[in-house]
Amino acid sequence: MSRSAHPAGPRHGDVLPEGHWTAPPADLNALDPKVWAQTVTRNADGAVTVGGIEVAALAEEFGTPAYILDETDFRARCRAWREAFEGTHAEVYYAGKAFLSRAIVRWLHEEGLNVDVCSGGELTVALSAGMPAARIALHGNNKSTAELEYAVKSGVGHVVVDSFEELARLSWIAQQQGVRQKILIRVTVGVEAHTHEFIATAHEDQKFGLSLTGGQAAEAVRRALTLDGVELVGIHSHIGSQIFDTAGFEVAARRVVGLLAEIKAEHGVELPEIDLGGGLGIAYTSDDDPREPAEIAASLAQIVQRECAAAGLSVPKLSVEPGRAIVGPTAFTLYEVGTVKPLEGLRTYVSVDGGMSDNIRTALYDAEYSVALASRTSDAEPMLSRVVGKHCESGDIVVRDAFLPADVAPGDLLAVPATGAYCRSMASNYNHALKPPVIAVREGEARVIVRRETEEDLLRLDVG
Ligand SMILES: *Cc1c(COP(=O)(O)O)cnc(C)c1O
Repeated sequence: MSRSAHPAGPRHGDVLPEGHWTAPPADLNALDPKVWAQTVTRNADGAVTVGGIEVAALAEEFGTPAYILDETDFRARCRAWREAFEGTHAEVYYAGKAFLSRAIVRWLHEEGLNVDVCSGGELTVALSAGMPAARIALHGNNKSTAELEYAVKSGVGHVVVDSFEELARLSWIAQQQGVRQKILIRVTVGVEAHTHEFIATAHEDQKFGLSLTGGQAAEAVRRALTLDGVELVGIHSHIGSQIFDTAGFEVAARRVVGLLAEIKAEHGVELPEIDLGGGLGIAYTSDDDPREPAEIAASLAQIVQRECAAAGLSVPKLSVEPGRAIVGPTAFTLYEVGTVKPLEGLRTYVSVDGGMSDNIRTALYDAEYSVALASRTSDAEPMLSRVVGKHCESGDIVVRDAFLPADVAPGDLLAVPATGAYCRSMASNYNHALKPPVIAVREGEARVIVRRETEEDLLRLDVG
């Protein structure tokens, strides 16, 4: 059985899925600050503005669809994360896979964050924007020899080792280059966390990491301690994504600290670092209640301190790797409505000029999003809507269930908030769509940080 049913086909007539909110929001024009970037508001005319700039002006200058990123909010979130962990002997790594560009890397650098990359391409972007290599960590379950050589040669701070093969390969590569590469070993702790629940399992049926309960992690530690090319500095765990509850982290921390205690008992060494990964949730709709970085930091630090005290270990340096929680809420996608198709007794399909090529998360994960009429306010009745794209695929849905004002019409601008993470970075050229630009807005100024693709870009790759 497939894990996620095809949403557009078999559910005709199933107007709202079970458990979904059924009542329209009290005020369709309201912008819930939980889901919108910090400087987003409506001006006196009712138009949505960001950093003081009206969406119509952005659409006019940069076209649609476009990702509009609130730089002020991005920097504030970086600072909130850094400050939350300050004084607790911890480091914050921004997970570049959520969205990475050179401007983003410069802001991270300026705001005192480090960066995680998981490919040679991401490493190139990080290095080319001047992030010191020592502040970059390399992840991945199948890093190529070329990627490992590149990372070691660049002097990355640490490599998170994911397999026995990689451990041997990396040690050899580092020795060839006459260096000793700092590493963390990624372990699977038997916790899988998603949103409001976590599942503790005895074994892990997935591709990442080395199993703690199966003894692979302890074996990797044993081997790492004998290899000349690597210096084992810690243990890494990443338990999932879009998590709201720290209970899963608590189990993970306990198991990782348990491994540190075993390592001390068996080898007489106390590893100085642990990394508990990312995965902290954000609000995509008003139903989501994410926690503040300060609260998360306090709770993680407390868990680690308690577990270390119980195991008789000194407290290691703690790292975290938020991606979505930093960039996700900072951007919205701006679309123009092209067609409006009411289906009697069902809902109205509102088609926009983008779709699954700029936001695959709805189709891929059944992700929920919100949407607002952005170019104006409206007093019209709420209308049950589905915001869809322009691709040749019925699963091409951006927002599955939303209420929009009944007078929404071609030419209106819609904004879908919380698209900063895993949208541009997962964008495709399906139907030879041109990937939208990313526009950074700050204090009344807007600038392109990633330009829109052109048909020339498509033809340049297609060598005939
Ligand atoms: C994806 C990933 C992250 C970031 O996850 P978010 O959900 O964006 O916070 C952090 N660490 C690792 C190892 C990851 O694979």
